Formats: sequence, structure tokens, C-alpha cells
Amino acid sequence: MTDYVTALQEAIRFMRKHDRFLIVTHVNPDGDTTSAALACALLLEDLGKSYCIVNEGETPEKFSFLPRFSSIKDLSKDIFTETFSHVIAVDAADYKRMGDVPRLFADDVNILNIDHHPTNDLFGQINVVRADAAATVEIMFELLKAGEFTLNEQLAACIYTGLLTDTGGFRYANTSPNVLKIASELLGYGIKPGELAERCLEEITLAHILLLRRALQTLKITHRKLTASLQVTRDDMREAGASGEDTSGLVNYCRNIEGVEIGVFFHETGENQIKVSFRSRASADVAQIAKELGGGGHARAAGCTIVGSLAEAEAIVFEKISEALGVQADE
Ligand code: 5GP
Ligand code: MN
Repeated sequence: MTDYVTALQEAIRFMRKHDRFLIVTHVNPDGDTTSAALACALLLEDLGKSYCIVNEGETPEKFSFLPRFSSIKDLSKDIFTETFSHVIAVDAADYKRMGDVPRLFADDVNILNIDHHPTNDLFGQINVVRADAAATVEIMFELLKAGEFTLNEQLAACIYTGLLTDTGGFRYANTSPNVLKIASELLGYGIKPGELAERCLEEITLAHILLLRRALQTLKITHRKLTASLQVTRDDMREAGASGEDTSGLVNYCRNIEGVEIGVFFHETGENQIKVSFRSRASADVAQIAKELGGGGHARAAGCTIVGSLAEAEAIVFEKISEALGVQADE
């Protein structure tokens, strides 16, 4: 058996053997981490186990149609009276990606780490990590099959949603034959692909558009037109009435410009705290750039957080991009 298949079996044993699980999604949760957590919750229910799903902050409302969405707790708002010895982290590339949630871990904690990031540092006692999976839900599907769980419409909705969002609607290079095979099987369970795509990919908030209008004023084309970047300040966020989830997708406007190889989005999330999102078109490994700056991700989509002002973060990032592309920012 391969290490991956063995890890899947260990994961199933872990879920069967224990109870009172803490399922953790990554900071700034997206469709994949949220769907993977909810799929995991449904599998635990199937085993008669109890669980608590927690994110460090809010989970985007756009995923509220998913089963058990309302049971996801917000560490910054909800009150917790217990610690957990059995943790399942989904789509978290490293320990830091769980944010403050580890404060709910008991001293004797055992972590099952389920993820698809090539930069995953295997922080769990059990690590089910497959970097060539398009999404963490693809691994959840394999876990479901390996554990001989029964697929149903609710599970199908979760898994399909994670595939849909992490492949950008089955368009990115990670759209493998396996992804489409799984999606095809899931469609047999009554889920509605048009409705899911509308909710997850098409519909945008007014705040997102107001923020885009502001962000576009900051557009910079650098590195011989190979890089495009946008910035958003805390004032922009306030004036657009935007929350974190309204920034989602802004980075794609940069990467999508004809001829641009790297798109960058700088988001001032706090005083001297800049969240940076990277997207690349074809050749630049932005996971490597993000990793060198303390973050991580995938070759085509990655991120990190930099301590400093927007101008300082920009200088640091532009320098790293110069090294990666072999082109100066002002060329
Ligand atoms: P986004 O730019 O959409 O926040 O993230 C793009 C990708 O990079 C996602 O796969 C996300 O999980 C990963 N990512 C974003 N920020 C970080 C970070 O600070 N650390 C790590 N390890 N991965 C990140
Ligand atoms: Mn993912």
C-alpha cells in the first residue's frame, strides 16, 4: 500500500475509534475548507460521533446553503468550555493556518491533518496529504470511499462545492480527469450544478463591486508588464462596507490581464498587517515566493501575511518577484 492509502486507513481508524472531535478550518475560510469540514462532520455523524466545527473568525455566508453550516462556530465570538483531544484540520497547509484555534487543543491532542497543499509541513500525528489533489474535498471523497461510507445528496453538495470553488468552476489546471469523474458521480445524487455555480462563483456582493472600484484606482503594472497588483486599505474596506470575504476574487483581475504572469493583491487587514494574495498564469511558482515570506499555497495560487505598511509589503513582495522573474520592478 502506498503511504497515502495507509494514511487514509489510519484516518478512518482515528474517526472510528475516538469521539468528541474538533474540526478546524483555515483562517479566511474558502469553499474548499468549509465544504471539507462539513463533509467531515457528516461522516462523523454517520459514525455516531459528536463534533464541533470551529474557525478563527467568520465563515462566508455565501456557503450557508451547505448542510450543517449553522453549526460552524466562530472562535472570536462563541464561548467554549472544553478543550479537545481529537482534532481534524482540513485544508490547512500548516499549523499557523488554524489561527488561534489551537487554544482549544488539550495537552494530549492528536491531530488528523487532511490537506492538498504542496507546502504542507505534516503537522499532524496522521497526515493525509496529497498535493496533486485539486481540493481537500477530493481527499474527503477518497476517504469516504475507503471507509465505505454511503454517499448522499448532502455529502455530494459539500464535495461538489469544494471542487467547484478550488478549480474555479472546473477551469484551472488542477481540473484533472479524477475531478471530473468525481463531479460526474456526485451529479447522480440530485445536486444542481447551475444553482451551486451561481451561488459560489457568479453572484457577488455590492460591497465587492464598490471595493473593486476603489482597488482599481491603485492598479500597478510592473516587472516589464509581467506583474499587476492592487491594494485595499482599511479605509477602503470601511467605505465600501466590505468584510474579508468581499475581497475574494480581486486578485484574479490582476492575473487575468493579457501578458501578466503574476497577479498580486495587498489587503491591509490591521495596523501594520498586510495579507498578500498571489496568482500566477503559467510558469511562476508563487507558492515558493509566499513560502519565503512565511506563507504558502499552490504554484498558481498562494498567500502570506507581512508585518509592515502597504508600501513596505509592496517593496518586499516586488523584490521577491524580481528574483523569481529575473526582471526589476521598474523595468
Ligand atoms: P488566498 O490568496 O485565496 O487567500 O489563498 C490562495 C492559496 O494560498 C490558498 O490555497 C490558501 O490556502 C493559501 N494561502 C493563503 N495564505 C496563506 C498563508 O499565509 N500560509 C499558507 N501556508 N498558505 C496560504
Ligand atoms: Mn483547498
